Amino acid sequence: MTLTDRIYPDQTIGIIGGGQLGKMLAQSALRMGYKVAVLDPSADAPASATSHLFINAAFDDEEALKALGDASDVITYEFENIDGPLLKEMVDKYYVPQGADTLLTLQNREDEKDAIRNSGAKVVPFVKVTNDEDVRAFAVHENYPVIVKTATGGYDGKGQYLIESEADLEEENIPYGDTEFIAEKYLDLEREVSLTVAKNVSGEEIIFPLQENLHRNQILYRTIAPSRVDYQKAAEEEVSRIMNKLHFTGVFTVEFFIDKAGVLYVNEIAPRPHNSAHHTIESCSISQFDAHILAVTNQPLPEIVQHKPAIMMNLLGQDLDRLDNDLFNHPEWHVHLYGKTGRKPERKMGHVTLLTDDIEAALNQLKTDFEKEQ
Ligand code: ADP
Ligand code: MG
Repeated sequence: MTLTDRIYPDQTIGIIGGGQLGKMLAQSALRMGYKVAVLDPSADAPASATSHLFINAAFDDEEALKALGDASDVITYEFENIDGPLLKEMVDKYYVPQGADTLLTLQNREDEKDAIRNSGAKVVPFVKVTNDEDVRAFAVHENYPVIVKTATGGYDGKGQYLIESEADLEEENIPYGDTEFIAEKYLDLEREVSLTVAKNVSGEEIIFPLQENLHRNQILYRTIAPSRVDYQKAAEEEVSRIMNKLHFTGVFTVEFFIDKAGVLYVNEIAPRPHNSAHHTIESCSISQFDAHILAVTNQPLPEIVQHKPAIMMNLLGQDLDRLDNDLFNHPEWHVHLYGKTGRKPERKMGHVTLLTDDIEAALNQLKTDFEKEQ
């Protein structure tokens, strides 16, 4: 396969991971006429319902990965923590246009932040820590509060310790022996924003409008797009610095912090579809999922136009409990349920997108409709 080859409908796209991102990727691929093969450890993963071939196996099952590779013309992933050596083997044997290097760098927060900083983009001060003494030494320079994060495997704020004082540090008993950690300055945030970009195999790039993200308990709660603060150009500049240093194919999202002084920092990069760009399904000329499928099959990428401003709200287990059958009583809500069995608090079960010319009024309406019992 040469770099400019395209993958055409009727050929098979293999996806490692069959959660909601895998399902929505598959839905885009199916609409375009591709065949879809998915590997996921849960027998009832959301994408088990949207694939021609569903391989129910662990992410480190070598035979199963080989079966996925043999069945596919191109391989992509929605799951970020693929084992390094296995990923390299897949890249050697099969066509994985995203490659292994970027994913491996981004799998480790320290390597990720080093790479971002080396590209010239701005990151929050951080340091690798292996004991409380290292955290104390960092706090001498940066002052508390500090946030300690596991270097690998974290998502939705898991594996993070907010340290506001010496006393907190002693109380937390951070399990340094179990894994690698970094300490990072904890910012008093003004906003969080994210920028989603897609690049096809030939190098064409498209950029989605900057998204504004509100979190609760470190889980994305609402996205407003376009962002109400205009950092589009500044964010694009940072992303272009990063793209000059790291190889990207497909869709990826860069998360940013904006502090009270208005300074923009890169937080982290997700080399896959991202929760904050789900609104693009209804609000933009093509969705992030369409963009990813077009990019990895090396089809031309259309210009992104956002038809209407959007608000996306996540539906966690407890939200579904509360909304119950009310969910479909709002005709203006575009309801997405991922089809996960096991409804649990704080688990992402679905999302709703609404399109509006009046973001503030819609946010207020949501407060009345949705948050009344909170
Ligand atoms: P994850 O990989 O779990 O998404 P993040 O580093 O993005 O981890 O942290 C999740 C959320 O926690 C962020 O979106 C932000 O709301 C908050 N957070 C994390 N690090 C900081 C920080 N240094 N300063 C302020 N808030 C932070
Ligand atoms: Mg994050």
